[in-house]
Amino acid sequence: MYHQPVLKNRRTLLERAEKFISDIYFTDCNLRGRLFGETHPVESISVFKCQKRIAHSESIQQNFEPCKVGDAFGPTWWTCWFKVTLKIPDAWRGREVHMRWESDGEGMVWRDQRPVQGLTKEGEKTSYVLTKCLKDNEPHSIDLYVELACNGLFGAGQGSMIAAPDPNRKFTLQKAELVVFNRDVRELLTDFEMLVDIVKLLGEGEQRGYQALFTANEMVNLCDPADPSSFASARSLAQNFFSQKNGESQHVVHAMGHCHIDTAWLWPYEETIRKCARSWVTVIRLMEKNPEFVFTCSQAQQFEWVKSWYPDLFSEIKHFVQKGRFIPVGGTWVEMDGNLPSGESMVRQFLHGQNFFKEEFGQYCKEFWLPDTFGYSAQLPQIMKGCGITRFLTQKLSWNLVNTFPHSTFFWEGIDGAQVLTHFPPGNSYGMKGKVEDLINTVKNNKDKGRANHSAVLFGFGDGGGGPTQLMIDRLERVRDTDGLPKVQVSCPDLLFSQLESDSALLCTWVGELFLELHNGTYTTQAKIKLGNRQCEALLHDVEVASCLALCRGENFTYPRSKLQELWRLLLINQFHDVIPGSCIEMVVDDALKYYDEIRTTGFKLLLSACESLRSDPAHTTSSNMAVLNTLPWERTEVVTLPGEELKTRLALVRVPSVGVSPVTDTVESVPPVSVTTMDDGNIQMENGILKAVIDRAGRLTSVLLVQTNREAISEGCFANQFILFDDVPLYWDAWDVMDYHLQTRKPVIDIIEPAKVVSSGGIRGSVTFSLRISNKSTITQEVILDACCSYIKFNTKMDWEEAHKFLKVEFPVQVRNPSATYEIQFGHLQRPTHRNTSWDWARFEVWAHKWADLSEYGFGVALLNNCKYGYSIHQNIMAMSLLRAPKSPDANADMGCHQFTYALMPHTGTFQESSVIQSAYNLNFPLRPYKAVISESWSAFSVTSPAVILETIKQAEGKKNALLVRLYESHGSSVTAILSTSLPVKEAWHCDLLERPDPSIPVSKTASGISLTFKPFQIRSLLLILQ
Ligand SMILES: [Zn+2]
Repeated sequence: MYHQPVLKNRRTLLERAEKFISDIYFTDCNLRGRLFGETHPVESISVFKCQKRIAHSESIQQNFEPCKVGDAFGPTWWTCWFKVTLKIPDAWRGREVHMRWESDGEGMVWRDQRPVQGLTKEGEKTSYVLTKCLKDNEPHSIDLYVELACNGLFGAGQGSMIAAPDPNRKFTLQKAELVVFNRDVRELLTDFEMLVDIVKLLGEGEQRGYQALFTANEMVNLCDPADPSSFASARSLAQNFFSQKNGESQHVVHAMGHCHIDTAWLWPYEETIRKCARSWVTVIRLMEKNPEFVFTCSQAQQFEWVKSWYPDLFSEIKHFVQKGRFIPVGGTWVEMDGNLPSGESMVRQFLHGQNFFKEEFGQYCKEFWLPDTFGYSAQLPQIMKGCGITRFLTQKLSWNLVNTFPHSTFFWEGIDGAQVLTHFPPGNSYGMKGKVEDLINTVKNNKDKGRANHSAVLFGFGDGGGGPTQLMIDRLERVRDTDGLPKVQVSCPDLLFSQLESDSALLCTWVGELFLELHNGTYTTQAKIKLGNRQCEALLHDVEVASCLALCRGENFTYPRSKLQELWRLLLINQFHDVIPGSCIEMVVDDALKYYDEIRTTGFKLLLSACESLRSDPAHTTSSNMAVLNTLPWERTEVVTLPGEELKTRLALVRVPSVGVSPVTDTVESVPPVSVTTMDDGNIQMENGILKAVIDRAGRLTSVLLVQTNREAISEGCFANQFILFDDVPLYWDAWDVMDYHLQTRKPVIDIIEPAKVVSSGGIRGSVTFSLRISNKSTITQEVILDACCSYIKFNTKMDWEEAHKFLKVEFPVQVRNPSATYEIQFGHLQRPTHRNTSWDWARFEVWAHKWADLSEYGFGVALLNNCKYGYSIHQNIMAMSLLRAPKSPDANADMGCHQFTYALMPHTGTFQESSVIQSAYNLNFPLRPYKAVISESWSAFSVTSPAVILETIKQAEGKKNALLVRLYESHGSSVTAILSTSLPVKEAWHCDLLERPDPSIPVSKTASGISLTFKPFQIRSLLLILQ
């Protein structure tokens, strides 16, 4: 029976209920005001401040100084260790007692030398439960430590979250006290909050909303905040409402705790280690209290950190992993960027990740988990499947600025045809709070209504860590099956995907990349990180190849397995989705560049030591004491720079067989020389028998002819190699975004400092240099190089860059017409439009690619190669490559300073496949490696008969000292058969997957000349080669 009269005034009833639980209004008489009972000060607090992140055991040895509530600490990135002494009053017998701690920064409670709980105001964790029900025989006097990191959940941005950090921020301790916690008030508040939200979110069109309204109103009538004995009747009314069940057909949400922790972003890597501990120890506490609670957790690197730094916590985690409640997901080393890492890097993300999960927890992950990266390569489905994964969860495409992605649950098909079941949680978040709105959004936004009746709800504070709270669990618990809301099932990824798989007949298929129509500046921002990534990918490739050759051919060579593992992991961590995209603070950039330096330093040492064991019998002598290593699977004839006398270098033309070495001799047969001449009009002509180019005073190409066919590549009257400066002021995310309107601010760079002049007039290399002024602070110096036998013109570029919100590109207007252009991606390529017909076309005004992009028409085309760039835009006949940006947040100094990079222009006849564009781009990125050694004759370790098939990887097999792993892929988009031959002592071969697990179901087909392999377009194949 309701109290009468209830007038037909929805607004007053709703607001009455809201005020009854408000933490701002009427707290003197409302229910919220009763949440906490008596308080009692702590006995003492003292503090030790430290610039470094030290261990707890070290901190307790230090001198602590007295401090008090209200004091401010800092500066940013320091750590404060608080020693807190408590004494719970005896009079609180039978009560639930908390230590209430409110401060800026991120805290961790330590008790008896163990981390026990995170305390972060931003993450709604301000209470540490000392006892659920105080008993006489439990300790009343307690010593705790609180480790307070002087940074927020989202770093310390000055003025806004993504602004550069404020180095001098102070962090105030606002509250540290003992308090009686009224659990019954908390429970009733949660009932009210859920009902009020149901009223608001179901709106006036749903009768269920009115039922919630009258229930909440009557609860206010029944409840006297000052009299806890009145709560039961109010609670039972709420209970009646929540337990009115749905019909069978209702949508099911699979609720899983989650905590997205960016491996580095607005804080450095080192802080992430502590973020993991703070977040996950809190999860363990929740698991102890809530026997059904399930938590999903990605990124092997973070597990590895916790294992090394918090071994006790790691064993607790292991315990709950075994119980199926703390669930490792994703299978990768970190949640990497989905666009920029090379194909092999992506394989290694899974290889290192899956192996870690298998080793530590006895299981591989079944789901790829990447909710927060900026687009997804069309090669990912095949890579996932090769790594034992057939399911994928993300949601980032909900951020598209232009087009709404049409599916929530669908099959995603990659460039080779591999399909994975993909789910975008329709609530468009990976950090929900278990609120009514999360549930309603999930149902409403599901784009596969009637096709997929199950969705994920991932709840828990994320990005900066934090994770789930008890309140979130309690909210969801109330509405497990409440008429009008979706059913809530406490679930795990396996259950969700199994349900989706079992009822997938009506699901649609999306073919090709998942392109994010936002954050397109991330292909360019932080150019040094991009350069580091590309160079280190190539270096580690070369170290692996050389080490395998040394293992088979050298004497007493030990494959540097553990060193390579360390270096790979440095590379992999920097591929995290806020590091390689360049969307991180300067401290992270510094760390990332340090990691690349370490890879370079150690990598070159490893390469050298492998090369040194590739020398001939010391008794043998030849005219040359230099050798050259070619790590690519085709013969190369190229100009290399050799160390000469007295620190001078000299050039040599060398021919090196595929995956092999060759002595440097002067006997490469005579080749057409390069000639560079200054013409009457002051322009310079460069020619090598393949290409003939004309360069004007400003370093621009006015003509590039393919000599054999006399075909002109450059559009008539246009300038190629034209630098263009754009204004680059995005709307939202500075380091991330470049907006479409930047295209309207095009300004050619034409201010000459040094006009083009000949540096080397010919022989095996011709070169021309010039320099230009971009602004009064920024300049470009370029060397344009044409080598003998080389089918592309190289542009070695040096840049001093001191700009603000500018975007520099280089343009090549070419005589080619085609509605689509081709871009290299991981283990393959794809097409994107060169026109702007539909919104899906023009939304891709700035796109990513790896080593090359090509624009071809029948019989002729032009490719633009690069050695460290990822941003391209090809519109109509104009090919542009993005070079540098100048965003100011979150790194105020992003990209300021000197840069060096190389790109190349390659006109060609026929298709890019026929004219070896792919091989040329590899050549540009994997330079021949000269080294000092006497080699009696050239030799090749591997060769592949089909130019379509690329032998990408040669490494020692995981866990097998006497076996190599080779990986090949079909690069043309064709079905072919190729023979892989080797001169190495291989006694047997096995097909295997990307995790290097042998697959005896595919027999290896041996022929007299080698192993015969069939490929479908863009297929990746891996083989284990067992050595004799
Ligand atoms: Zn993230």
